[in-house]
Amino acid sequence: MKLHEYQSKDLLSRFGVPVPAGEVTDDPKEALAIAEKLGGKVVVKAQVLMGGRGKAGGVKLFDSAGPAAEFTKELIGKTLVSIQNPAGMKVEKVLIAEQVDIAKEFYLSVLLDRSEQKLVVMISAKGGMDIEEVAETDPDAIIKLYVDPAFGLCDYEIRAALADAHIPKEARGQMVGLIKSLVKAYLDADAELIEINPVALTPDGKVIAADAKVAIDDNALFRHKDYAATSTDSAENPIEAEALRRGIAYVNLGGEIGIIGNGAGLVMCSLDEVNAAGGKPANFLDVGGGAQAERVKSCVELVLMDKNVKGLLINIFGGITRGDEVAKGILVAFDQLNVNIPVVARVEGTASDKAREMLASTKIVPAETMQEAAQKIVALTR
Ligand code: GDP
Ligand code: MN
Repeated sequence: MKLHEYQSKDLLSRFGVPVPAGEVTDDPKEALAIAEKLGGKVVVKAQVLMGGRGKAGGVKLFDSAGPAAEFTKELIGKTLVSIQNPAGMKVEKVLIAEQVDIAKEFYLSVLLDRSEQKLVVMISAKGGMDIEEVAETDPDAIIKLYVDPAFGLCDYEIRAALADAHIPKEARGQMVGLIKSLVKAYLDADAELIEINPVALTPDGKVIAADAKVAIDDNALFRHKDYAATSTDSAENPIEAEALRRGIAYVNLGGEIGIIGNGAGLVMCSLDEVNAAGGKPANFLDVGGGAQAERVKSCVELVLMDKNVKGLLINIFGGITRGDEVAKGILVAFDQLNVNIPVVARVEGTASDKAREMLASTKIVPAETMQEAAQKIVALTR
């Protein structure tokens, strides 16, 4: 789960990361009050979870509160479009923050390097710009510092990495502290990514996080109830947000064949088979073990919220999940929802005979194997 900038800064400041004072709002009047309180010299920043926000016009500096409030009014409700996010994202909130006087901009991030089985801190003196671009044009400008899982980081290692990255001497002491705080925050908050771009160095030599991105591992959200509470309004896709509210594992994939299966592995196989048959999966959806009819109905409803879906593939291997319960759910769904797209169902395992019997009287096309089911649904949606 990606946190908004203001949430990321809140979290990081609790670990001692210096961040500019600021407040979030969706109201231009309140924006005026916040900007006045901060002394007028502020930056107004759209709180959208997309890359290239600044270039998309979502970040602007002001010398006084009035124009900052005007800009807030302009931004709220507007859809920002960037190269990284061509579909665009609607601005619902803005962060009004004290403007940082920036002399130099650096880049810092912490992530997991799976092949090294270690956390890695990425450091660059080329901050403020697109890091992917730096990685392409000047890869040596990004220094990787691996964190020993047993011993953590020692100050001298960090100092050496900062020197390698050409971080100016006067900033290094503060950067050591900052990197240690980020690593601690990463571990304590079960983060997947922490990125500060830019880390600002002010003319009077202070280091401060001018931007912040934190993503929390979804599987650890139960340990972070405070963030879980806000997770639905920060989901990137409205159907994914609804799935989160319903407690269903759903990922939108942008294709046109809706997929429902039980067990993540079986669903992944179904995606592969649909791809192999020449189709494009619209989603990943795992109904979970032991799904009851009501839940199955809820899943069908969720998949059909995606207007791109032209056909539905249901792939169930009954173990704890009973085929007849799934069939009951499908029947209820078809009865209550207006399903007017082709549906292919493959139900195998526990109570599958009964399930096939129940579905025989419907328009649902049966299939014996997963491959056959994938081929049939792809053919039917052509
Ligand atoms: P992003 O485009 O989503 O990464 O948004 P950022 O918060 O990183 O802002 C983009 C750019 O705007 C930064 O790289 C800075 O150059 C500039 N910027 C953002 N906040 C400030 C600020 O407080 N003061 C100054 N001088 N520039 C800022
Ligand atoms: Mn940034």
